[in-house]
Amino acid sequence: MQFIDLAAQQDRIREKIDARIRTVLDHGKYIMGPEVAELEAGLARFSGAREAIACASGTDALLMSLMAYDIGPGDIVVTTPFTFIATAEVIGFLGATPVFADIDPVTYNIDAEKIDDAVETLKQTTPALTPKAIIAVDLFGLPADYDAIDPVARKHGLVVIDDAAQSFGAVYKGQRTGSLTEVACTSFFPAKPLGCYGDGGAVLTANPELADKMRSIRIHGQGSDKYDNIRIGINGRLDTLQAAILLAKLDIFEDEIGRRQEAADRYTRSLSELPGLITPSVPNNYASVWAQYSVLAEDAAHRTALQTKLKKAGIPTAIYYPKPLHLQTAFAHLPYRQGDFPVSEQIADRIFSIPMHPYLTADQQDQVASALTS
Ligand SMILES: *Cc1c(COP(=O)(O)O)cnc(C)c1O
Repeated sequence: MQFIDLAAQQDRIREKIDARIRTVLDHGKYIMGPEVAELEAGLARFSGAREAIACASGTDALLMSLMAYDIGPGDIVVTTPFTFIATAEVIGFLGATPVFADIDPVTYNIDAEKIDDAVETLKQTTPALTPKAIIAVDLFGLPADYDAIDPVARKHGLVVIDDAAQSFGAVYKGQRTGSLTEVACTSFFPAKPLGCYGDGGAVLTANPELADKMRSIRIHGQGSDKYDNIRIGINGRLDTLQAAILLAKLDIFEDEIGRRQEAADRYTRSLSELPGLITPSVPNNYASVWAQYSVLAEDAAHRTALQTKLKKAGIPTAIYYPKPLHLQTAFAHLPYRQGDFPVSEQIADRIFSIPMHPYLTADQQDQVASALTS
């Protein structure tokens, strides 16, 4: 059994992908070819964002967003410690200071009250640094609680960036990610819900001025023409070939989200009765895109036992994430230690993810359930 079966998807749309690739090989516009603009229009339409800016990775999408907001040395960006390193890495890369706020124990997403506590504390302890932004992560495909985060952001004058790397297509109170915040960032890494065949990403935004700025940042800070550079930027373009592949995949993405939802529902029906296992819970009015289906064991030893049972049955598992960011060596210079974010630390000890993709069969899911009960 595959953890994520990309081959099943490819079988379904191989001809369309081949045709799309052939078109690019024929026109030869490998950099910023017509497929990039076509994809951007499709992403904006799908998400309800006003504009989309395709770029080289989800990490670059986050980087370009922070650069567009002029975030740098002396600034603080508040985020969750329970996420992939890229979320906080870009903050440090720009010389700004990441500050963590613990997560909600049910959704695993950043807790708005903890953001408020963190900023209030910073005002007392570190008045020389200026809190500028919040990066909320929609972990495993489930949107963060923006209606709780927004008032905290307004209170402190912070912008909210949605790290939607795992949640493109997810819904929060009737709106898709990409249209929930002024700026949202997504990733097309192959294993993400909408993935290409290499690295890729996009920024989605409601703000045309920020969009123009990010388009400039994406191409070396370019101004009115190629050799007029008006700011420091990056080489952050998405390859035309990856855009072409994504266009073929975007056509079936809505259907794939439905299949993911069905698979998640089947898992929840069969696993929620298992003693000592906690299945994911989705608040009312949210729809996850199920980038991962992650369950909680009772403790680290129980998790190891369950993963071992699954492995013996030929079923792969993964741990997202075994070590919260405040305990990572890369952030050892920050004033954090074990115990600072107890919810993240406990979840990191107990969580693991089981196979999830749109082509998972009921039979395969039965195998997972019976391996877990054995
Ligand atoms: C995958 C991911 C990223 C980074 O995306 P890349 O395309 O791999 O650079 C950022 N944040 C989160 C939460 C992710 O899961």
